[in-house]
Amino acid sequence: MSSPKETTRFAPSPSGHLHLGHAYSGLFSEQAARQGNGRFLLRIEDIDSTRCRPHFTREMIEDLTWLGLEWDAPPLLQSSRSDAYARALKHLSHMELLYPCFCTRADIKAEIEGSAAAPHGPDGPLYPGLCRHLTPKERQDREAAGLPFALRLDVRRAQTVTGPLTWFDREQGKMTATPEIFGDVVLARKDIGTSYHLAVTLDDAFQDITLVTRGEDLFQATHLHRLLQALLELPVPQWHHHSLIQDDQGRRLAKRHGALSLRQLRSEGKSARDVRAMAGWRD
Ligand code: GLU
Repeated sequence: MSSPKETTRFAPSPSGHLHLGHAYSGLFSEQAARQGNGRFLLRIEDIDSTRCRPHFTREMIEDLTWLGLEWDAPPLLQSSRSDAYARALKHLSHMELLYPCFCTRADIKAEIEGSAAAPHGPDGPLYPGLCRHLTPKERQDREAAGLPFALRLDVRRAQTVTGPLTWFDREQGKMTATPEIFGDVVLARKDIGTSYHLAVTLDDAFQDITLVTRGEDLFQATHLHRLLQALLELPVPQWHHHSLIQDDQGRRLAKRHGALSLRQLRSEGKSARDVRAMAGWRD
């Protein structure tokens, strides 16, 4: 029996140069597509205008081409998709699942420090819910005063709409979705009007991705993406979260630990084949 045709994607953020961890992830994704004679796509996750730079996008594409990756359609830039993100937010807002949050980081910190229990999620302390309880009048007044706001998902209410959900990871098997571990997550940031979680969920559907391949550092995020898919009535792919390459001190590769970029390795004379081998890839 032949394996089903998969569409996979590699979705780096152009906030720096690619390193060996990215190389592994890209190669993993392409291989998952090729094994089943499927499609491999590239998506540039450049919504965060505070961190992403166009020259990193250009250089990433250059580095990935040099490494030998071949994607089957022009890269999708998330910066071209703002209308789709705005439409989805409107839809969730009509479902009464979003609320504006006017809190500053300092407000949230003070509230957490002053409370006896501070539950934590994958991204740190959970939002303590301050703005969930504002009256319509209080919301209006703050908006009228021009206070900037984010949009948060009322996760408990969202779960009552969808009921229990599951998803399937190729390593771990069937998972019960627990999006509540993120609390009332921000779906539209004050500064960029969207968020990683919303954009990635919409774009995986837009690109007809059937198998989401990514590092296991994003495993927990899938609980939330599954909830968003159900709320937005999007198709449900499968996931394959792969393990991360570590440096010789057992830390996950990251720029801040001085992980060597692909460009640097290339300028030192390494071939693409050498770099694939350094990323633990056997040709
Ligand atoms: N853009 C994310 C990153 O560079 C990856 C998103 C994903 O694969 O879902 O970490």
